[in-house]
Amino acid sequence: MRVRTPLVTAIAAGSLAIAALGAAGTTSHAAAGDGSGTRTVEYFPDAHGEGRHAQVATAVPDRITREKSAPAKTAAATTVTPLQRTGPSEGRLDLVVIGDGYTADQQDDFTADARSKLDAIFAIEPYKSYQGLFNFWLVDAVSNDSGVSGDPTRDVVKDTAVSSYFFCADTERLLCVDEKKVDTYAQQAPDSDIVFVVSNSTKYGGAGYSGLTSTAGHTGIATMSSDHDSSYLIGAHELGHSIGLLADEYQYGGYGTYPGPEPAEPNTTKQTVDGMRDTQAKWYRWLGQDDPSGGTVGAYEGGGYYEYGIYRPTQNSIMRALDTDVFNLPGREAMIAGFYRDADLLTARTSTARTLSASSTLRVDLAPLPQGLSDVRVNWYVDGAEVRRAEGLKTLKASSLGLRKGTHKVTAKAVDRTAALRDPAARKAATNSVSWTVSR
Ligand SMILES: [Zn+2]
Repeated sequence: MRVRTPLVTAIAAGSLAIAALGAAGTTSHAAAGDGSGTRTVEYFPDAHGEGRHAQVATAVPDRITREKSAPAKTAAATTVTPLQRTGPSEGRLDLVVIGDGYTADQQDDFTADARSKLDAIFAIEPYKSYQGLFNFWLVDAVSNDSGVSGDPTRDVVKDTAVSSYFFCADTERLLCVDEKKVDTYAQQAPDSDIVFVVSNSTKYGGAGYSGLTSTAGHTGIATMSSDHDSSYLIGAHELGHSIGLLADEYQYGGYGTYPGPEPAEPNTTKQTVDGMRDTQAKWYRWLGQDDPSGGTVGAYEGGGYYEYGIYRPTQNSIMRALDTDVFNLPGREAMIAGFYRDADLLTARTSTARTLSASSTLRVDLAPLPQGLSDVRVNWYVDGAEVRRAEGLKTLKASSLGLRKGTHKVTAKAVDRTAALRDPAARKAATNSVSWTVSR
């Protein structure tokens, strides 16, 4: 929930590649979201395949928006439901789900559809083990029509809250939205880190927008159709970009050799296995390990849209194709590190703002992580020295810490020692503490 660096690297790589090959007719020429430019979005032409990118106009075409009601009016009266609230927004990832193409009578359908998408995504590791670091906000956007534009055919136009439409950029499975309307609705939620738009449709489709700037705060939007049972994978993949800062592990035929510098993303590299070992770079700590995606972690050529001279960690993964829902080990580590960049394990329940007395009770809350990948420890310190007997406590009397006369700094620290993290920097991100001043 802190300000993140937008995913300009992934987007830039995609735009560059597309522009270079002339695969799309336009190039980006305006700032994102000003209504006059274009943006690169990701989509999946078939439900079990690799992704593609397209340049789309940020403005929704006139044929979709003509004679439509003003969205801001309805947004003001929108209902926001906390489907899951595990802690304060400052210490959580806030995922906002907006329904589109649901009329006033269909809001229960939206709730059920949103739940089923979230259930499916959060059955995948590492989302499953770390669901407790998320808040889920459902925004009941009321549409005048049921269903969305472009379903079932291109000529179908529906009047919906955020103007979802298939056949975006003449691509049937590309389900675009009006980013500004999404922003208006997302602002109704207490906080917005990532937005899912669930569009009322049985047709397969979706889109990933990353590197956004929005008033609501989110940097990514994933769209997905509500009633196709594979569309949730689009959301699961897109969070890989926005939370894990992961690259796409697929390639385009004809792109040839990767021309750039060492990629910034943690799951692509120009180095071979020996190179990674020699320089202790990228996913060297995982090389040779059995991977949950099948096979072993190594350096497989092709990724980041290029065919040669760039490597990915495993043969397949959810960042390569949606015929699997598995993150490989380096991807999983990057996701968990990403969760912890934006969310905190430990939050103070007793205010840290004032000096406490020895008779005070100190309380902390831990994010409710289920049994799974995590391995959370809580430790207490007085002036930096650990008080071993307090290990694991979430509530204690300051006097139980054996304070001498004077003013002390009491610290509670939580760390996730999960074996899914091997990088010390990631472990550091998985550590957080709160401190009080206690006077005796
Ligand atoms: Zn992608």
